[in-house]
Amino acid sequence: MAGTLYLVATPIGNLEDMTHRAVRVLGEVDVIACEDTRHTKKLLNHYGITTKTISYHEHNERERAAELLERLKSGRDIAVVSDAGTPAISDPGFRLTRIAIDNGVAVVPVPGANALTTALIASGLPTDEFFFGGFLPARSGARRARLAELRSTPATLIFYEGPHRIAATLKDAHEILGEREAVVARELTKLHEEFARGRLSELATRFSSAENARGEMVLMIDRTVIPSGISEAELVQTITALVAKFEEDGLDHRAALKKAARELGLSRDEAYRRLVAERGNE
Ligand code: SAM
Repeated sequence: MAGTLYLVATPIGNLEDMTHRAVRVLGEVDVIACEDTRHTKKLLNHYGITTKTISYHEHNERERAAELLERLKSGRDIAVVSDAGTPAISDPGFRLTRIAIDNGVAVVPVPGANALTTALIASGLPTDEFFFGGFLPARSGARRARLAELRSTPATLIFYEGPHRIAATLKDAHEILGEREAVVARELTKLHEEFARGRLSELATRFSSAENARGEMVLMIDRTVIPSGISEAELVQTITALVAKFEEDGLDHRAALKKAARELGLSRDEAYRRLVAERGNE
């Protein structure tokens, strides 16, 4: 009989966020496949777990998955853990899961901590429908294009982010998505946990200081563009960015302006008037 592949969630900061079941399963399996064996050893030591570990990370995922499948087929039980949170969510685990399923091996999830749901439930943004986009592209051009694709998604947008890119991502999000409510959830479950709430433009300013942009982060963005009450300067900035984006996409200026205006709930004439007034002020 083949063994079982367990996908075991581990804490995202606070060691108490480990379930009784996770501790039992990690103690019972034949081997634990870890993203970083040294990192996971600290968790295992904390819970007095002495199970053998083996590395399984993005650089050796392919060959390791084949090797782990052989072990499963020979009747061994394997648990996969990542450095933090739920395996296979922006972490290794997907490939082995797919291979196990394709080979008739039982896959059992052991749920627990996960950064995106932890962030969302306390964000105050709508939870009824959400879109998880993983990590946005590192390069601004690709990131802006991805954000443009998601502009009309009728759901709270959720992304994983790190301290070095958060300011640039917020700036791009503001320019491409327009002004929206957003939340940056930082250092979840840790001592300095923080939910920074505000408009995209405000958060972009706040996180442009390296002092504020520390630790791991989840960025959440409301689905609706703020239609009124935004300053004239912000509105013009948004129109300008959208027109530039649509022109980059291949539309001529007139069509780009029309499309930008429609997205912002303005007539083309209104959008045009604002751009002209802005140019007059330059
Ligand atoms: N598999 C993990 C999960 O279930 O959430 C995610 C792993 S992914 C490689 C790491 C990213 O998750 C970080 O860059 C950050 O965006 C988010 N993250 C993980 N732990 C976090 C925490 N304690 N606070 C805020 N974000 C966190």
